[in-house]
This record gives sequence, C-alpha cells and structure tokens, in this order.
Amino acid sequence: MAKLFVLSGPSGAGKSSILKRVLDEVPNVAFSVSATTREPRPGEIDGVDYNFITPDEFRALIAADALLEYNEHFDTYYGTPRNEITDRLAGGISVILDIETNGARQVFAKCPDAVGVFCFPPSFEILEERLRGRDTDSEDKIQKRLAKAREEYEERSKYSYQIINDELEEAVERFKCIIERENNEKTK
Ligand code: ADP
Ligand code: 5GP
Repeated sequence: MAKLFVLSGPSGAGKSSILKRVLDEVPNVAFSVSATTREPRPGEIDGVDYNFITPDEFRALIAADALLEYNEHFDTYYGTPRNEITDRLAGGISVILDIETNGARQVFAKCPDAVGVFCFPPSFEILEERLRGRDTDSEDKIQKRLAKAREEYEERSKYSYQIINDELEEAVERFKCIIERENNEKTK
C-alpha cells in the first residue's frame, strides 16, 4: 500500500544524499517538491529540487490553502504543496517529504498514517564537518543550521524510525528496508 513518508533530520544530516539514491533505486516512490523562497544552490534545478518562488508567491499559496504544511526557518519559507501528494497516493505511488520537524508535526496531525523517519549524523561534530564540506552556506547560516539541529534532534522520538547516517550505503539500505516494510503492510 502506498504511503506518505516524512523524512526529517538536521540540515546536513544527509537527507538529500540518501533520497537521491532511494528515488533512483526504489520503484513507485516519488519526491514531494517543496516550495521555498530561498535561492537555488549551484546544481539545484527549479521544479526538481524545489519550486523556487518569491515571498509574495509563497504568501499567495498560504492564502489559497494550497500547502499541507509550511514553516519559516533560516529566514526562508518552506512548504509542501498539497498537489504533490494526493493524486500520487491514490495512484499507488508512495510520496516522500523532506521537511523539518515543525512541518512534520503539522503533517502527523493531519495525516495519522504518515510514516516518520528521522535521520541524523553520528555526532554534532560530524554534522558541522559535513555542513562545512558541502560549502553552500555562509558562516552565519552554518551557525543557524547547527542551532536548529540541536532543537530538531530533541524531536527524534516522535518518528517511527531513526537512521544514523554514518556510512551512506548503510543509511540508504535502511531507508529502502523501511519503505519496503511499510508498503507491504496493509494498514498501520
Ligand atoms: P541534508 O539534505 O540533510 O541537508 P546533504 O545530503 O546535503 O544533507 O548532506 C550534507 C553533506 O554531507 C553533503 O556534502 C554530502 O555529500 C555529505 N554526506 C552525506 N552523507 C554522508 C555520509 N554518510 N558520509 C560522509 N558525507 C556525507
Ligand atoms: P535546505 O535549505 O538545506 O534545502 O533545507 C533546510 C531545511 O528545510 C531542511 O531541514 C529541510 O528538510 C527543510 N524543508 C525543505 N522543504 C520543506 C518543506 O516543504 N516544509 C518544511 N517544513 N521544511 C522543509
């Protein structure tokens, strides 16, 4: 049975790296493309990684109740368009949201069957190394991401599954097993 998967974890935990592999390798699973007001990073494609929109466009989506959830963090709006989800689930395609913990809480309240998966690195030191290694954020942004990482980590027990992203290969395999197991269950 197709399900809604909510993948959360601190920025830099490796969610995008894991997802890229899972989406390539697991059939009948789709990524929910979020709307955001942040600037694209090098290599990010509009409509694929995010729908990059203006703050006015984002506020129009909120006013039209077109978002399942949204949150403002890192001085940026991020939100999940409802139209990324409903038709796919009805068509037997599972959907994965890559969203932070405030947004996840909104989804769990509205969609009790959603499956929460929390991903985190082996330590905060390694998280900091990875954020710096990604080389996409200023020092100020890295500090904000590290502060939010500690808050998000406290939310991990609200998720059905946890993935420690030490070796990427093992983290990918664990997420694939979680999806297989959940999709094979008729009801939760
Ligand atoms: P997120 O999507 O959670 O913000 P990313 O997937 O962008 O995180 O990963 C952050 C950085 O860490 C990237 O540079 C990525 O290549 C690197 N990374 C991800 N997983 C691992 C891992 N298991 N070991 C080492 N580096 C990793
Ligand atoms: P980044 O800027 O690194 O792509 O994402 C920053 C954080 O925003 C990550 O924790 C990511 O999961 C979260 N995020 C991405 N899309 C959404 C969304 O649609 N809603 C919410 N609430 N968070 C999101």
